Amino acid sequence: MRKKVVVGNWKMNKTVTEAGELVSAILEQLGDCLVGCEVGVAPAFPALTEVGKVIERSDIRLVAQNCHYEDDGAYTGEVSVRMLESLGCAYVIVGHSERRQYFGETNRTVNLRLRKALAEGMQVIMCVGETLEEREGGVTDEVVTEQVKEGLEGVGDLGGVVLAYEPVWAIGTGKTATPEQAEEVHVSIRATIRDMYGDIAAEHLRIQYGGSVKPSNAVELFAMPNIDGGLIGGASLKAEDFVAIVKAAG
Ligand code: PEP
Repeated sequence: MRKKVVVGNWKMNKTVTEAGELVSAILEQLGDCLVGCEVGVAPAFPALTEVGKVIERSDIRLVAQNCHYEDDGAYTGEVSVRMLESLGCAYVIVGHSERRQYFGETNRTVNLRLRKALAEGMQVIMCVGETLEEREGGVTDEVVTEQVKEGLEGVGDLGGVVLAYEPVWAIGTGKTATPEQAEEVHVSIRATIRDMYGDIAAEHLRIQYGGSVKPSNAVELFAMPNIDGGLIGGASLKAEDFVAIVKAAG
C-alpha cells in the first residue's frame, strides 16, 4: 500500500512573512490528520528558512522548488542541493513544466538535477506531462514515456523518487484532467517503470497528479488506484483549500 503524498508548490508567491503565516495556518488547521498521508510545502527559496522553523516539530516536509546539479561555483541565481539540505529540505522538485517552458530545462538537465539530489540523499519529485498540442496530437504517452526514461537515466534505485504527472494544459488553467484521463497516464507511467525497474519498484513508486487540483475534485482524483496524492499549485496558497485537499488524500 503506497502512502499518498500531497505537496503544495507555492511557486513565486508569498513574502517571508506571508509564507510563515500560511504554513502556520496550515499546521493549525491540519490538526492530527498527518497520520494518513505525507504532506509537504514548497515555498520559494527566500522563505525556506522561515517555513522550516515553523514546521520543525511537525511531520510536514520542507520541499524546494528546484536545485542545481553542481556542488558550488559560478552559477549565478542557482541553489545547490547542499544549500537546501542545510535548510532542512527533505525533497526537491525537478522538471516542473514552468522550469521546462520558461527556463530551458530539458530531460537531460532534469536528469542531472535529479541524480545530484539523490546522490546527496535528498528525495526528488520529478514532474512530467504533455502540452495541449501533444495531447491533441495523440502523443501523450510517447512524450511522457520519454520524459520518464530520460529523466531517470542512470538511476538504479527509485527509493528516493516520487513522480508527478502534470499535464501542462491543466496547470493553473482551471482545466483538470478527469480522474479517468489522469489514471490512464498514471497506469502507463507505472508500466514504463515496470519495464525499467521491475514489478516491486513499480508497485512502490508513488505517482502524484498535478493540474488544477481543488477541494472539489481532489476526492475523485485521489480515489483512482494509481494516483498517489497531488502536487498542488494555486489551491495550496489558501490554507483552507490545501488542508481540504490533504484530508481528501486521507
Ligand atoms: C503545479 O504548479 O504544480 C500545479 C499543479 O499548479 P495548479 O494546481 O495551480 O494547476
